[in-house]
Amino acid sequence: MILLGSTGSIGVNTLQIAQKFQIPIESLSAGRNIDLLNAQIAHFHPKKVAILDPKDRLKLQPKNAKVYTGSEGICEMIADSSSSLVVNALVGFGGLKPTFTALHYHKKLALANKESLVVAGWLLDTSKIIPIDSEHFGLWYLCNNKPIKKFVITASGGAFRDTPPKDIPSKKTDEALKHPNWKMGKKITIDSATMVNKLFEVLETKWLFGIDEIAGYIERSSHIHALIEFIDGSITAHLAYPDMKLPIAYALDPKQAAFDCVIPNINLENLAAIKFESIDAQRYPLWKLKDILIQNPQLGVILNASNEIAVTNFLECKINFGKINFIIQESINKFNGDISYLKNQEDILYLDKEVRKFTHTLV
Ligand code: NDP
Repeated sequence: MILLGSTGSIGVNTLQIAQKFQIPIESLSAGRNIDLLNAQIAHFHPKKVAILDPKDRLKLQPKNAKVYTGSEGICEMIADSSSSLVVNALVGFGGLKPTFTALHYHKKLALANKESLVVAGWLLDTSKIIPIDSEHFGLWYLCNNKPIKKFVITASGGAFRDTPPKDIPSKKTDEALKHPNWKMGKKITIDSATMVNKLFEVLETKWLFGIDEIAGYIERSSHIHALIEFIDGSITAHLAYPDMKLPIAYALDPKQAAFDCVIPNINLENLAAIKFESIDAQRYPLWKLKDILIQNPQLGVILNASNEIAVTNFLECKINFGKINFIIQESINKFNGDISYLKNQEDILYLDKEVRKFTHTLV
């Protein structure tokens, strides 16, 4: 297996499942956390490793793996690896080229890097992609060949689900990182608080399942991840504890996952009342973009680029929480005119760069 982003939240969980299923690790990639990467190398003995900064090469221990560096290094490592499965658990737009590379080399792609689908879903062969996301795993689990009316995905509501809306714009980084249910990387934790994560998942759903009827609700416990409304009047729901090991296990080896106790079942007697709340546009102003995005999915490039710059600045405590919404909205207003020229990866890279340049001026 080739694992990209091994030192992140999804990466670490993926290694736990790989160990449980005895899947050999051929290649690992990490960004800057060389200490954790070294521990993973000592444990899993990959033949190849990719790191972001060539200067970190000297810190790598043990030294018998072939080392690749920089963002191009990740793609070179994929090309050189013989494993048929790539897990892309990189965060952000940097995951896009590795996604294209994995598909180019006819690898099976277990994709946690949702940004790839958000910015380029229409260019990706989704029949080769297994999503690592609890909502899409839940939807896949529920599909049963009956005519579907609507897909429903749920949101926890993020850090500010109980904060009075007037107080939310001035919130600071440490408060936004307190997710009520999930332990995840910093970017997706902020994306949950703004509801951008759910917009991303709407686009993922569109590309993965080819359906435009997609609704989102807040389900506070994160025990129900997805539901399907069928034409016949029934609704089925997928329930599991909030733990990414389950979707990861199915992405790595569905046969083993089905017969293994990957995580415990929810204890139904302890389950509090389940409630579905609508996603309030006053609290989550960006949610208003949902239907526009479904109709114009290439706006995902603008949404993603402006969000990445805004979230990076928010994580560096340079802007308040409310500025993220402002930056995204302004960027979409500025660039949504003509995006019909977006035909290939180069066009996406060009627009991404332009949006980032503009977004910097707003910060
Ligand atoms: P993390 O921030 O925890 O991990 C990101 C990984 O990417 C780390 O290994 C990091 O390396 C690496 N990385 C970051 N920047 C670079 C770079 N420029 N070059 C090379 N490597 C880099 O993120 P998550 O694991 O939370 O999320 C990963 C993806 O999965 C995201 O797209 C997210 O939206 C998605 N996802 C996450 C879920 C979760 O529960 N966490 C659930 C569903 C989807 P290092 O730390 O060494 O710098």
